[in-house]
Amino acid sequence: MSVYQVSCPARTLILDEERRLLEEGGLRIEPTLWCTLEAEHGGLHLTLAQALKGGGGVPPSTLWLRWPEDAEHGPLRELLTLPSCPERFLAGTVEEEVCDLPKDHAGRHGFEFGPPLNDGDITPDWLL
Ligand SMILES: [Zn+2]
Ligand SMILES: [Zn+2]
Repeated sequence: MSVYQVSCPARTLILDEERRLLEEGGLRIEPTLWCTLEAEHGGLHLTLAQALKGGGGVPPSTLWLRWPEDAEHGPLRELLTLPSCPERFLAGTVEEEVCDLPKDHAGRHGFEFGPPLNDGDITPDWLL
């Protein structure tokens, strides 16, 4: 693993039956999805699968896909709606950032680590 890799390197292939369930929502469905948790997190891998608009008294919600490391398409694999993580970085300021992960997620909050960086993103005065 590169020293710059900060998000989990796991990814999963979307199954046909999952694709059919996901086609209703607002996000384009990718054939594979990367885990959005911090690298070396515990528990199941997790990724945002779809944003559901709601309507008819149903609030908008987010649909997450989680799967175990050792059995990607095994019985523990699950599509489910989860509430958002309530944590805010610099809450109440113009710099406020939300954590884009579900409540009670493993690892650090989304604003505490970024997507993988490569050498081109590192400037000479970067302090690691
Ligand atoms: Zn993961
Ligand atoms: Zn969080």
